[in-house]
Amino acid sequence: MTAPAPAPVSLFNTLTRRVEPLLPLAPPRVTLYTCGPTVWNYAHIGNFRTFLFEDLLRRWLEHAGYDVFHIMNLTDVDDRTIKAARQAGKRLVEHTAPFTKAFFEDRDYLRIKPAHVYTPATEYMPQMIALVSKLLERGVAYKGEDGSVYFAIAKFPTYGRLSQLDKREIKVGARVASDEYAKGDPSDFALWKKADAADEAVGAVWDAPFGRGRPGWHLECSAMSLAEIAKCCGVQTLDIHAGGIDLIFPHHENEIAQSEGATGQPFARHWVHGEFLNVRGTKMSKRHGNFLTARDLREQGVDAAAVRLLFFQTHYRAPVDFTDEALEGAKEGVRRLGEFHERLKREEGRGKGDGEIAELTKKFEDDVVTALNDDLNAPRAVAALFDFVRATNRELDNPKGGGGAAQALAAFERVTGADLLDILPSERAVAPALARWVEERVAARNQARKSKDFKAADAIRAELVARGVEIEDTPTGTKWRLG
Ligand code: AMP
Ligand code: ZN
Repeated sequence: MTAPAPAPVSLFNTLTRRVEPLLPLAPPRVTLYTCGPTVWNYAHIGNFRTFLFEDLLRRWLEHAGYDVFHIMNLTDVDDRTIKAARQAGKRLVEHTAPFTKAFFEDRDYLRIKPAHVYTPATEYMPQMIALVSKLLERGVAYKGEDGSVYFAIAKFPTYGRLSQLDKREIKVGARVASDEYAKGDPSDFALWKKADAADEAVGAVWDAPFGRGRPGWHLECSAMSLAEIAKCCGVQTLDIHAGGIDLIFPHHENEIAQSEGATGQPFARHWVHGEFLNVRGTKMSKRHGNFLTARDLREQGVDAAAVRLLFFQTHYRAPVDFTDEALEGAKEGVRRLGEFHERLKREEGRGKGDGEIAELTKKFEDDVVTALNDDLNAPRAVAALFDFVRATNRELDNPKGGGGAAQALAAFERVTGADLLDILPSERAVAPALARWVEERVAARNQARKSKDFKAADAIRAELVARGVEIEDTPTGTKWRLG
């Protein structure tokens, strides 16, 4: 017997500007490459909006029966990391390592599933050097008089297809050395940058047959993704390549040119791009100073479930404006989900049934599947979820109803639990500073009780209650929670 075919998933493809069925090369396997963080500093929640939509995409594909192989890179050498290391007076790796570690902590806080492989750029130098050599050999790259190696976009006839570049804008022979530049400035771009004093100072230099230097940012993703899909799956084409919309040009355009210029095969079948997280209409970014990091939110005691819900309430291809009110609304939504979850757990024994709740449950699950299959329409899935919560609560209020609560609970957990949206409240979403204070007070109270100073113990309990902390003495110790 063959395994059932995975369910049809459709996704907008930037390459064709249409929603298209996902057609992996060798189903049920899906190779997914997502451009990861540049570890020059802490990632902000704008970056995490992109990583969260990719997390949902990955989870949904797995839910639909695909066997996803997810690769994410870590940009630990590029213009920004070198500049930041230089300013900090550190070696490159010494500067980036703590930010890589912080990224993994933030990822775990936000409940993002780890990729199967993380590829730090500095660990793929042989592959990058080999890719540049291949492009030189094939005549689509050349060494400039400045000693750097450039990709010749005029030699790659489909250059500009992804970003729908007007071919008339392409200035033959114009060159750009920096990693980032605008769509209005399409030029031959650096694959390998000749070492300069700043690179040498931070140790961002490698020897190559075409000169001592370091990779351009775009080269890194081509080399790492091609290396990993060759290793895992013996292919040269990715099923899905994803990132934020700012990566379409020049980053992804250049990745296509470099990869296809070397392999002669399509680089990625489906290109998926997420919109920005904005603040009052402006892209959240370090440059604009309008950013918030995941650790800021964690320090404030914000439950990751609320951040996930906040982002999933908007389609990944529509901008989100980050406001305190929107976050408060999401927190309230998570609280309601938690309450409903508790209620279902309490009432699941109210009898099996194929009554109203069974029907609501079926409709709920069908709606979620339809929404997510349709270009990962998470806001429609979330709306179906809250409709289901409202309607089921009404049924449970009816003393004669309530049959089917067990099935409702199972479906509710499948959608909101750790396998899919992952938006149920954390056990203890408490600000770390508050948690430390509570732990200290609880220990002091226990000490007071041990020395039979019950007056002091009661005073501490009152102090805790005043801050909304409930405590319970159990045989295994004192338990506490926020009431
Ligand atoms: P970087 O660390 O700058 O290389 O970016 C990592 C990822 O975050 C990329 O996929 C970017 O497209 C994405 N990104 C950057 N800023 C934002 C933002 N304000 N909203 C959503 N995604 C963003
Ligand atoms: Zn990339």
